[in-house]
Amino acid sequence: MTDSPRKIIPLADLRYASRVPQVPAQAAAPSGLLSDMLGRPLRDLRISVTDRCNFRCNYCMPSEIFDKDYAFLPQSSLLSFEEITRLAKVFVAHGVEKIRLTGGEPLLRRHLERLIEMLARLQTPAGKPLDITLTTNGSLLAKKAQSLKDAGLRRVTVSLDALDDAIFRRMNDADFPVASVLQGIEAAHKVGLAPLKVNMVVKRGTNDDQILPLARHFRHTDTVLRFIEYMDVGATNGWRMDQVLPSAQVIERLNAEFPLTAIDPNYSGETAERWRYLDGGGEIGVISSVTQAFCGECNRARLSTEGKLFLCLFASQGHDLRALLRGSYSDEQIAAAVGAIWQGRSDRYSELRAALPPDASPASGGPKRVEMSYIGG
Ligand code: SAM
Ligand code: SF4
Ligand code: SF4
Repeated sequence: MTDSPRKIIPLADLRYASRVPQVPAQAAAPSGLLSDMLGRPLRDLRISVTDRCNFRCNYCMPSEIFDKDYAFLPQSSLLSFEEITRLAKVFVAHGVEKIRLTGGEPLLRRHLERLIEMLARLQTPAGKPLDITLTTNGSLLAKKAQSLKDAGLRRVTVSLDALDDAIFRRMNDADFPVASVLQGIEAAHKVGLAPLKVNMVVKRGTNDDQILPLARHFRHTDTVLRFIEYMDVGATNGWRMDQVLPSAQVIERLNAEFPLTAIDPNYSGETAERWRYLDGGGEIGVISSVTQAFCGECNRARLSTEGKLFLCLFASQGHDLRALLRGSYSDEQIAAAVGAIWQGRSDRYSELRAALPPDASPASGGPKRVEMSYIGG
């Protein structure tokens, strides 16, 4: 008798595809005025502190790939908190004002509060504190909200894709109850991790019937609910355009029940388009990464768990800063290398997506991309 055929999904492991940056011979001190080839400054640094997660959201870490045999990064390859802080300092000197901790699930990283304390001591060249925030699935938030706040975290963004318990459990694919995430949100509110944002990834046919229930739930609270278009990140989620519900349709559905009006962005480069309920019920946002690309204003860099710098969510190769950290380079030399990398940046994948041939997707043999759980959302 032969073994039954096993489903084999090819997955090129791009985590190891990286280049060690050149360190320029002449290191000019960072001016905070760095800009890339499209004139975009560097303002926002997203740091992935772990590639592990206790959820298996199908759009991010499908359980058939991220199973018990999946090789997560070994502890020795992770950046230490000291290494992360050293790099964060370099990025701040180049103009970064906001740091978002992410993952994987960042609250799974042990003693994360210590890292937050270290980052909270950094200041911008103008002497201002950094805006430090974190994106979490909320599963450990009820337990950790107070210690995170005490460590110096200012705000938190919680991902929540459904209010209905059965749909939520199905989407996280870990049978995790929605009530525990709601308790985490409550706890974050209580300790003043504000303004609190809740992100819902909308997947047509999977959870789009949860748009209105979530909107009703968070109206008249200080929580800003934001609807994110399902994106073609990574190479494993089997993304299809017909599973994307355009933000324009999200707004249409909401507007039919709760009339809305558009409001101005808080700052240039804000990813979410803001709307306000006309009856004073508060604010919502839509993030239209697929139907209305915002690459022109993208000032975000991403640092993977093991210290690779990615210039775009859809990149297939990172720049190995850990090699510099663990080599004999000074902070000035590392800053010069980071400056040169940013100056050479021309990434604008989402703007080009529509013009790409259908076979350009990873599923059709096109260029592979790193996973979002690896470089952080
Ligand atoms: N585990 C944390 C969480 O879920 O909040 C942080 C990491 S997660 C990768 C960061 C964000 O990326 C989450 O809000 C998640 O919903 C979003 N995300 C992951 N895959 C996505 C996809 N294919 N399209 C749109 N957003 C996605
Ligand atoms: Fe985990 Fe967040 Fe990815 Fe869901 S979206 S699998 S919670 S990292
Ligand atoms: Fe930024 Fe890349 Fe997203 Fe465009 S596609 S907004 S460049 S991360």
